[in-house]
Amino acid sequence: MTDYLSDVLWTDDEIKFRKEVRSFCDKEIYPIADEIDHGPYPKDLLKKIGHAGFMGVHHAKDVGGTDRGLSYEVIVAEEISAANGGLDMARMASTTLYGMPVTRFGTPEQKKKYLEPVIRGEKIGCIGITEPDVGSDTAGMKTKAEQDGDEWVLNGEKRFITNGSQADFMCAFAITNPDVKSKEGMTAFIIDTKADGFSVVKDHDLLGMKSARVSWLKMEDVRVGPEMILGDLGQGFHILMDELDSERTAIAAEAIGYARTPYEVAVKYSNERHQFGRPIRAFEGVSFKIADMATKLEAGRALTLTAARMYDKGMNITKEGAMAKLFTTEAAIAIANDALQILGGMGYTTDYPVERFYRDARLMTIGGGTAEILRFLIQREVFKKML
Ligand SMILES: Cc1cc2nc3c(=O)[nH]c(=O)nc-3n(C[C@H](O)[C@H](O)[C@H](O)COP(=O)(O)OP(=O)(O)OC[C@H]3O[C@@H](n4cnc5c(N)ncnc54)[C@H](O)[C@@H]3O)c2cc1C
Repeated sequence: MTDYLSDVLWTDDEIKFRKEVRSFCDKEIYPIADEIDHGPYPKDLLKKIGHAGFMGVHHAKDVGGTDRGLSYEVIVAEEISAANGGLDMARMASTTLYGMPVTRFGTPEQKKKYLEPVIRGEKIGCIGITEPDVGSDTAGMKTKAEQDGDEWVLNGEKRFITNGSQADFMCAFAITNPDVKSKEGMTAFIIDTKADGFSVVKDHDLLGMKSARVSWLKMEDVRVGPEMILGDLGQGFHILMDELDSERTAIAAEAIGYARTPYEVAVKYSNERHQFGRPIRAFEGVSFKIADMATKLEAGRALTLTAARMYDKGMNITKEGAMAKLFTTEAAIAIANDALQILGGMGYTTDYPVERFYRDARLMTIGGGTAEILRFLIQREVFKKML
């Protein structure tokens, strides 16, 4: 159906599912993809995505998901991202970045109240890791939660939080025991964003991803009961690391989506645009770019599916998730850049969506672990066996 080389790696059901997601995107997203780039995306659209079943493919049936696995989530991520990047970033922040910690570590009561409506697309989730002074070095987290009787009192700031100003719930990480290393002293909490003391400092003005909202948040004496602790006290760092594996694999799929549309536009344009009496694809300077773009897309898809398959089998994918994200995100930036070059001046205009994807793709080597941090992780895993 898609003529991707990687079609031999997907099951018939996955290929059928991709078709379903794509026809949903054709009907509901592509017609407004440029318009919603002035943001924020309409919340109703997230509800439609949820009701179509595309928020819960990697969540269990008892919380409203379809329990099909991360290999289906990467299909959704690629397809929606190919239509509008910011929209999928918002969808994924809700269902994967926020949703996976709750699905994997939440109690049945937490899942009922704080996850099921998110999977239906009726409520929005976000994840709060990054802070003004804490980016790549997550173990240096400053947000604190102090016990007061039965309750916990949270104080701190979270920066660059996708969906922050739109979210109903946040999975927030905080230091609960400053006397031990943060790997043992960090705890994850579910925060209701309507709680007293929770505020939005501002939405960041971004280069791309204009249909999403990415916010700076503040918690001043936000009080929560013990039932809002996710997992065990002191398990936060483990939950954070666990979340990043699924996040990075899903981001890898988004990167393929951000690259796919500019690639397809460039292929068509290079066939139609004539200079020196022939289509510009007749010039190697153009057609070799197309060859490299096509190859990178296929390689990225195979790497991403490998990580997703391993995750679905319960295997550790710290290295494979990092590899998939590193490769596809650097490829997405290069592909969007080459596509823009192939369109010449038209690529620099908003008449074509290429400039939008060029801006969106640039985020990809930063959010969810920078390319430098991913290289560090990959080499660490490579050498682990030798040490
Ligand atoms: C649009 C957007 C959405 C985001 N969404 C979320 C979200 O929903 N939730 C959330 O918690 N966070 C989110 N983030 C934050 C994102 O994960 C961080 O920006 C990212 O982890 C990097 O942190 P930093 O920006 O503080 O950069 P820093 O950590 O300050 O890094 C700056 C530079 O130094 C390099 N560097 C740092 N340490 C090393 C090292 N040891 N070796 C080599 N190089 C190094 C980095 O690679 C980078 O190039 C988002 C960010 C953006 C821009």
